[in-house]
Amino acid sequence: MVVQVNQRTPNSRKTMDGSQQRVEANILLLGADNVGKSALTVRFLTRRFIGEYGDIDSIYSRSDKIDGRDICFNIWDSSHSQNGDEAGHISERQLQWADGFILVYSICDRASFNVVRQQVQRIRQAKNKPPTAVPIIIVGNKRDLQHRRTVSSEEGRLLALSADCGFFEISAAETYHGVLLVFHGLIELIREARALKKGAAGFRGIVRSMSAVFGRKRTE
Ligand code: GDP
Ligand code: MG
Repeated sequence: MVVQVNQRTPNSRKTMDGSQQRVEANILLLGADNVGKSALTVRFLTRRFIGEYGDIDSIYSRSDKIDGRDICFNIWDSSHSQNGDEAGHISERQLQWADGFILVYSICDRASFNVVRQQVQRIRQAKNKPPTAVPIIIVGNKRDLQHRRTVSSEEGRLLALSADCGFFEISAAETYHGVLLVFHGLIELIREARALKKGAAGFRGIVRSMSAVFGRKRTE
């Protein structure tokens, strides 16, 4: 496994082509403040939990080999307080940039769960595409704090189910494994979305060729 941590500007170019061995995916972490977005990012990048994190809005890269393929994760760890945006705000630039979303709430912070609920709606409305084309994983973090839980697992799972999102409950503080499952799960969904898109483009191509053969006018 190659771990390469370097900061990038949010303008990094998408270079992914489904037919190539190398897959590049832009992943945006969203959610209220203090839910553990930076903890998840740092855990994934370094395997460590360091406890306190700066409030910096930045993009990191990490390469992995999964099923013989080189995967390059570009991870945008967003921060509202740094951007001066109200909680839950998602910019146009973020929506354009991301291939997939990780929406994080804390299981002991109901307000943060409501932020995720709003953000799911915002992404689904803004993208206006079938849910499979816009992969989202919802994460209930701080699972180690059971005694302070205010959002049940069922509520999290139900929200994910109703909006066609993946769902995990994890503790970034306690384990690396759960965090790994979240990022790898999202990569799977992004690859499926791209395969579907390619399939649809291929189908449109066939329809166009058929129209040409039979001399029909294209309507699209
Ligand atoms: P962000 O504002 O969403 O980026 O949140 P941070 O990653 O900065 O984390 C906010 C606080 O929650 C920090 O004090 C972290 O140490 C703590 N934290 C993050 N993840 C966990 C977790 O899984 N369990 C516990 N108990 N604390 C966590
Ligand atoms: Mg942060």
